[in-house]
Amino acid sequence: MTAGSARTGHPGLAEFGETIFATMSELATRTQAVNLGQGFPDSDGPPEVLEAAADALRNGFNQYPPLSGHQVLRAAIAEHQRTYRGLEVDADSEVLVTAGATEALTASLMAFVGHGDEVIMFEPYYDSYAAAVALAGGVRRVVTLRPPDDGVGAFGFELDELRATVNDRTRVLLLNTPHNPTGKVFTRTELMQLAEIACERDLLVIADEVYEHLTFDGHQHISIAALPGMADRTITISSAGKTFSVTGWKIGWACAAPPLMQAIRSVKQYLTFVNGGPFQPAVAVGLGLGAAYFAGVAADLQARRDRLRASLTNAGFVTFASQGTYFTTVDIRPLGTDDGRAFCLALPERAGLVAIPSVVFYDTEPEGRHLVRFAFCKSDAVLDQAAERLAAFS
Ligand code: PMP
Ligand code: GLN
Repeated sequence: MTAGSARTGHPGLAEFGETIFATMSELATRTQAVNLGQGFPDSDGPPEVLEAAADALRNGFNQYPPLSGHQVLRAAIAEHQRTYRGLEVDADSEVLVTAGATEALTASLMAFVGHGDEVIMFEPYYDSYAAAVALAGGVRRVVTLRPPDDGVGAFGFELDELRATVNDRTRVLLLNTPHNPTGKVFTRTELMQLAEIACERDLLVIADEVYEHLTFDGHQHISIAALPGMADRTITISSAGKTFSVTGWKIGWACAAPPLMQAIRSVKQYLTFVNGGPFQPAVAVGLGLGAAYFAGVAADLQARRDRLRASLTNAGFVTFASQGTYFTTVDIRPLGTDDGRAFCLALPERAGLVAIPSVVFYDTEPEGRHLVRFAFCKSDAVLDQAAERLAAFS
């Protein structure tokens, strides 16, 4: 067989089964377990933003938006990049509204990765990255983020390992910071190292920054696009889902220099063309809520992180510091097993809880076999219930 058929599907996707998020959320529903697996909040977003969507529904935002997105949202994204990231972005030629960050990522990879081109990503990686590279006909190469030896600092990588992974076929470095699932926020020094390699080896960088406002303990998110030499070689991607607790709206965006943007737009127009008309002006309202709003969301989430981490520590797991995102990672070995997959499949029955086996985000199985991801973007009541179940479990 040379290509996918109606019966076998796309050959590049043969290695991928159902996404872990669908599997584990279905398991949670079926077993009535507390779902700390899939990363979605269980509360609605800010009332102003919800109200703006309702207004838009009633006031003529129900037809196709322009291909690049409604002007009001593109202008708000450009203003947001200027205010929070120190980036000058032209709202007309350098911003594209997409069906979530997922579409921005897929369209960018399809635009720049040809057959056999290599894409470097850090493992553990968000699951759609591997599938999107495969759809584009590319080859993924991974560099491992390893837990801190002291259990205190952030996950880290070996610069030499990264350098050795780059070769003449490497086209793209795909970066996610703040990082799902480890909670790592890449430091300025690390980003400078990545930028240096990208400039030296003429790589494009796709920067997935969907958790950009969700950082804790004073850790600051920095956009790699703002570092010297990077503006013209970086595609910066984000999404409204996490920042405004509206994951179901699927409003994302990409920012890039005009030649890059044209190529991404050409792909995007045949994926969805456009999406989410009435949600677009509402996200514009959200982006304008101001620094105090963003700080409040992060502080609220930090308290939830602390609560869940305490429960996990009490239950006997080794917990790692999460500097950002919705997630915290634990090492399950103190509980007598190193098989995270089996552990997570049994957890609903054993403890009425659902979590994600981190190994699904690794190519190098031994690196992630013993790690499990828990989401803390949940209400007090849900976190209390999880705490009770974890206490009974230990
Ligand atoms: N990137 C990362 C790192 C994620 O965790 C997610 C999950 N929300 C996405 C991209 C996808 O974002 P969206 O729902 O906006 O497509
Ligand atoms: N980003 C979310 C997570 O990592 C879920 C995304 C999805 O369900 N596809 O849990």
